[in-house]
Amino acid sequence: MRKLLAANWKMHLYADTAQALAQQLRHHWQEKGWQNLPTVIFPPLLYLREIANILKHSSIQVGAQNAYPGEFGAFTGEVSVAQVSASGGAWLIVGHSERRQYFAEKAPLLQRKLLDAQHRGLKVIYCIGETLEERRCGETLNVLRQQILEVLQGVSVAWNQLAIAYEPVWAIGTGINATPDQAQEAHAFIRQLLTELGAPASHIPILYGGSLKPENAHELFRQPDIDGGLVGGASLQANSFAAIAAALWDK
Ligand code: PEP
Repeated sequence: MRKLLAANWKMHLYADTAQALAQQLRHHWQEKGWQNLPTVIFPPLLYLREIANILKHSSIQVGAQNAYPGEFGAFTGEVSVAQVSASGGAWLIVGHSERRQYFAEKAPLLQRKLLDAQHRGLKVIYCIGETLEERRCGETLNVLRQQILEVLQGVSVAWNQLAIAYEPVWAIGTGINATPDQAQEAHAFIRQLLTELGAPASHIPILYGGSLKPENAHELFRQPDIDGGLVGGASLQANSFAAIAAALWDK
């Protein structure tokens, strides 16, 4: 199954509200019978273990929004991929535009994170996307090509532990989503590129992210190459995240 729905809670919520939200989602997924709708939640790292415990034996997995490659080391303030895994994390987000933009993360580090996470058994959502300026200059597909090649080419990627998220930077947190046509064009291009890299592209989930909400989810998910979503703002309320899940379930 190619479908995947992901909730990126970013740096939001306190422990009690995070737990309550996880409990609501667990209950809702059970009630709706969404056991076969692959879903993953990315809480703030501090709450990873308790959210993983709440979701144990449910169909919802948890992951880390960020982690440093390796096990232990003198890297003050960092949390390692191995520690994430030992705390119940099954997924890692790599290359989110906020990490690229605010923390200056570049391809060599992103590649190390991706490979180390896969090596330790985690699945990875690798995020790519163009800025508004790049889109206006007609550079969108070139940017996507570069972001894919500089991290996934020439190394041994575990394709069955990978999802891609197409997240136009101008759509993240702005309330303005890519149109279904814009998103489909990007997704089809990414799938073609993955094929050229020798990946089993028809099995790799390609998610859309960027102001995804209940109002636009159906239209976006109707596109043949949009396999799910990476949801920020609308994942912070059980009702809106569940409405997006329902749209994907209907796909
Ligand atoms: C994101 O965090 O990756 C994201 C797409 O955020 P939002 O849904 O709020 O635009």
